[in-house]
Order: sequence, then C-alpha cells, then structure tokens
Amino acid sequence: MRNLALSYWEHQSFFGPADVAIIGAGLVGLTAALYLKQRRPAWRVVVLERGPLPSGASTKNAGFACFGSISELIEQEKRGDLQAVVAARYTGLARLRELLSDAALGYQPVGGYELFRHEEGALATECRDKIDYFNALLAPVVGQARTFRDASDEAGRFGLRGVGTLLKNECEGSLDAGRMMRALLARTWAADVPVLTNCAVEAVETSADGQLVKLANGAAVAAGQVLLATNAFATELAPSLAVTPGRGQVLVTEPLPDVALPGTFHYDHGYAYFRQLPDHRILLGGGRNLDFAVEATTAPGITQPVQQYLENLLHDVILPGQRPRIDYRWSGVMGFGPALAPIIDWVRPGVLAAVRCNGMGVALGAGTGWQAAQKLVAG
Ligand SMILES: Cc1cc2nc3c(=O)[nH]c(=O)nc-3n(C[C@H](O)[C@H](O)[C@H](O)COP(=O)(O)OP(=O)(O)OC[C@H]3O[C@@H](n4cnc5c(N)ncnc54)[C@H](O)[C@@H]3O)c2cc1C
Repeated sequence: MRNLALSYWEHQSFFGPADVAIIGAGLVGLTAALYLKQRRPAWRVVVLERGPLPSGASTKNAGFACFGSISELIEQEKRGDLQAVVAARYTGLARLRELLSDAALGYQPVGGYELFRHEEGALATECRDKIDYFNALLAPVVGQARTFRDASDEAGRFGLRGVGTLLKNECEGSLDAGRMMRALLARTWAADVPVLTNCAVEAVETSADGQLVKLANGAAVAAGQVLLATNAFATELAPSLAVTPGRGQVLVTEPLPDVALPGTFHYDHGYAYFRQLPDHRILLGGGRNLDFAVEATTAPGITQPVQQYLENLLHDVILPGQRPRIDYRWSGVMGFGPALAPIIDWVRPGVLAAVRCNGMGVALGAGTGWQAAQKLVAG
C-alpha cells in the first residue's frame, strides 16, 4: 500500500486538506464528527480508520447501556466523585439515544441485574445495604427516586443456579452495537464527512502550517486540527497519555429458544456480564480479572483460561446442565487509566485527545465526542 498513487479526484474529495482530521472511527470519533458538523457545517472533516471497519471496542462490546452495578459503584466511589462519573455515563447514554434514536440503536429498556451466588453472601449483604444510599445519590442524575431494588425473588424465574441475591437496576438497558455503528457510519457520511477505512495513521507532525497526518499507505492529510479518538491505542501516537489497554473476551452461544433471560446481567464486580440477544443466543463476556497482566494488551486474541472460565459460568450458573454450542468468540480492547473519567484534553496545540472510556464507553462515548467537538470549535 505504500506510495499509494492518489488520483486528482481522490485528493480533491477524500484526502484533501481538512479543518479537522479525526483518527479513529469508534463511537467517540464518529460522534465527535457529527457534533462538529452540527456546530460548524462548513468545516471539512475527515475520519481516518485503521481497520476495514471500525476495529476497536465500539464494534466488539457487549451492548450494555449501563452506568454501574452496586458492587462496581462501591469500588468506584473510592476513586473520586461518583455522582459526576455516573452523571457522565447517564447523560452520555441519553445523548446517544437522542442522536440516533432507540429504533436505530435497537435499544431495549430491559433493566439490569447484579447476581450474587450463595457463597458471596457477605458481598451481597454489603451491596443490598447500600441500595437506599445509591438511590439517594443517583436520584438527581436519573430523575427518579428508585434506581436499584432487591429483586432476589426473581432469581427462580431465570433458572440461574446457586444465585442467592439479585439486585435490579431499573434504569439500565441494552442495545445492538452493530446497528449502533452502522447507523453512526451512515449518519457521518450523510453529514458529508468521509470515513476512510484501511487508513492507519503512523504519525501526526505539527508545523507552523498546521498538522500533517501521515498514513501507513503513503498518503498524508493536512489538517488545521487533529482529534485522536484512538482509545486503547492512544499511546501509539501520543506516548504521554495515561492510557493502559485492557482486553475483554466475549462468546456467543447458538440460539436457545427455550431460555428466557430478559435483562442485562452483571457478576463479580462487573468483571463478568451476560445477556440474551434478540435471536435467543446468550452473549457472555469478561474474565479479564483472571490475569490482568496477560489481558493488558492491544493484541487481539482469546485465551484458554478466560474462555474456560466463561464456559464454566455458562454451564454452572447461567444454563445449569446445558452445554450449548459456542458460535462466536472474539476480543476487543478497552482503554483504562488512573481516573474513571475519559481524557478530553490537548496533547499539544492543534492535537486534541478524546480517549479512555474504559468499560463503559457505550455510555460515555457520545458525551465524550460532544465535549471533544466543543473543544475543537473553541480551538
Ligand atoms: C469486550 C468489550 C465489551 C464491552 N462492553 C461494553 C458494554 O457493554 N457497555 C459499555 O458501555 N461499554 C462496553 N465496552 C467499552 C466500550 O465499547 C468502549 O469504551 C467504547 O467503544 C470506546 O469507544 P472509542 O471510540 O473511544 O474507541 P474504539 O471503538 O476502540 O475506537 C478507536 C478506533 O481507533 C482506531 N485506531 C487506533 N489507532 C489508529 C491509528 N493509528 N490510525 C487509524 N485508526 C486507529 C481503531 O481501529 C478503532 O476503530 C466494552 C468493550 C469491550 C472491548
């Protein structure tokens, strides 16, 4: 691909000078492009994406439209202003739903459950005891008095084995990550923003004339400003950014028409999660905490220990006694860091980063894209 000989037309309509070049066509990059065009319709904006499709977390996630189970919130509260963090997630979801519509997202207000096995009784009690506290903390954010409630009496109807406690989040939902990204891509192109795939960026060079974005295929795009929306890969282009990759593995079973698991389900402090898809398959992911060091990688791949852990969870708890065929297995990479909030900040004049939406980027992504657009408009 090096020394790509671009035609006059390709230069004019695709790789020509841009006011803003966005690197990364995930949820953050595409929403930033759309919000930018809302504010500055005349600006030329281009999105450069390394993969043949957007190839980051946005197309690999579990589609939980969530903002934290109680055990996660307890842990996260130790790291800072929890109400602000949850507000960013909740308003981010609202922004995404407003931008694309629930129909386009396949959004379902199914409610979310956190489950505790009998042997996790102490943690279950700690979380149950916090229901009133978190309901009061979140009331101004979600606009209703009761977000969480004890739903342990529902455990029986789901057929889960060995589960003693279920706590329900009434405000949680699920969506179709594939439809979300298709809708975003269609909207971005319709807003006259080309999304150029197979365009890996190798370097961004800053000069008095602006930014020069150099691609691995030999092409280059001159831009007034650049947005790095490269999430877990952020340090490849901006080594100073405090972003650490964390790989997540997922599997999906064959369709199971007799299983009824309406809702999104969280287990083990959010490190494991499952839900039933509209075609009656079970999606199950997590297990990164089995070996944080091995999973701190941007390399795609699945590992035997994590897949075995997920399958055991499936056979022992979710579908007791059943061994369904596994039809899909994949991985995706999240961006983590010392703080829970994303980085939306200048790397240097003219180069903004909007990265590190951690494991809740479906919730945080559109708000992060929106904030990035405001900063680019302000220059
Ligand atoms: C397995 C898994 C499950 C998850 N489940 C959920 C969930 O249920 N709910 C939730 O809220 N969040 C979930 N997340 C997190 C969420 O998906 C992410 O936080 C969110 O998608 C991040 O969006 P983004 O646009 O910042 O990054 P990404 O979607 O990762 O986009 C970054 C893009 O940059 C591109 N790129 C990188 N480097 C370059 C380069 N040099 N040149 C050109 N392009 C480049 C990549 O190819 C990629 O497309 C999950 C993540 C994973 C991995």
